[in-house]
Amino acid sequence: MIPENPYLLLTPGPLSTSKTVRAAMDRDWCTWDTDYKSIVQKIRESLLDLSHGGEAYTSVLMQGSGTFSVEAVLWTSLRPKSKILVLSNGAYGQRMARIATSMQAATVVVEFPEHKQADPETVEKTLQTHPDITHIGMVHSETTTGMLNNYAPVAALAARWGKVFILDAMSSFGGIPLDVKWPEIDFLISSANKCIQGVPGFGFVIAKKSTLLECKGNSRSHSLDLYDQWETMEKDPGKWRFTSPTHTVRAFLQALTELENEGGISARHARYAANHQTLVSGMEKIGIKPFLETKDQSPIITAFHEPQSTAFSFEKLYQLLKSEGFVIYPGKVSQAATFRIGHIGHVFPEDIHRLVAAVEKIKFW
Ligand SMILES: *Cc1c(COP(=O)(O)O)cnc(C)c1O
Repeated sequence: MIPENPYLLLTPGPLSTSKTVRAAMDRDWCTWDTDYKSIVQKIRESLLDLSHGGEAYTSVLMQGSGTFSVEAVLWTSLRPKSKILVLSNGAYGQRMARIATSMQAATVVVEFPEHKQADPETVEKTLQTHPDITHIGMVHSETTTGMLNNYAPVAALAARWGKVFILDAMSSFGGIPLDVKWPEIDFLISSANKCIQGVPGFGFVIAKKSTLLECKGNSRSHSLDLYDQWETMEKDPGKWRFTSPTHTVRAFLQALTELENEGGISARHARYAANHQTLVSGMEKIGIKPFLETKDQSPIITAFHEPQSTAFSFEKLYQLLKSEGFVIYPGKVSQAATFRIGHIGHVFPEDIHRLVAAVEKIKFW
């Protein structure tokens, strides 16, 4: 027998999943049989509904972790003459820029400080200086800090200037309501093991059909060709090109059902926000302050300043919390000593109360 989970993952993916999501993996599937393909089709429809895409949009699933889907979007949508503007205020914005440059795409990176939102005026100036920019990419929930980037003004600029707009909504989709049509997003990217609360193994893209249709034959990567994957899933409905992560896919369908049973994205958003508020007010009582201003903070993950005391060590906090049944995240902010606590997944305000009590109990600094 495999033991029950020894600790709760307070990490933004992979995250703690429900027992029923894990149980859904307990059988095998044949990838070309309609029993399996109909699961894939249900998932594709459901993702489209959750994003309010409707007729003008489509969804494609892609093997691998979330980064593979970001890379698939770039390989598929960038042409030799394209130039992408990447806005970054953290590690995931930088990762998108890194992917673009390593595929030798013309790339303009505009960096903002980790505690600041992308400023639309700077974006517009950059578009004026580089009229050959064809694509704009940015991150919605920047998991480095917990910053919720306001993408709407940038998406509006992209629409006004006729640029393809790419949003890495990896750690927000399913946990924060949005509509891909307004302001318009050409490619929205997310993955199975974040706010939908599935297990890891694939990513997905909600794409504006007219934009995707122009991408046939673009990709110089064979396995990361999103167009080809989409065409296969359309022509033989629900069929992936290569081996698909069947158990993960079945678990994801269960996760979608559980999202619906919870009351949909707005109800899940409310739970995550309650987790976040419980956490911040509890930690502030202990004297631990969040890194970001409240107005910028997402309900996904919170970065905290490490306590000033020289007795503090993240490693010690990590080990003590682990022995109390919680796994947390180290900091990723470059400008300050921080640590992070994720509050998405099968995690509830009661769990966060228990976490805060554990921090108070072990306080060693
Ligand atoms: C999780 C995440 C990714 C993808 O990371 P993988 O480890 O490849 O799944 C990309 N962007 C953001 C903002 C994320 O939170």
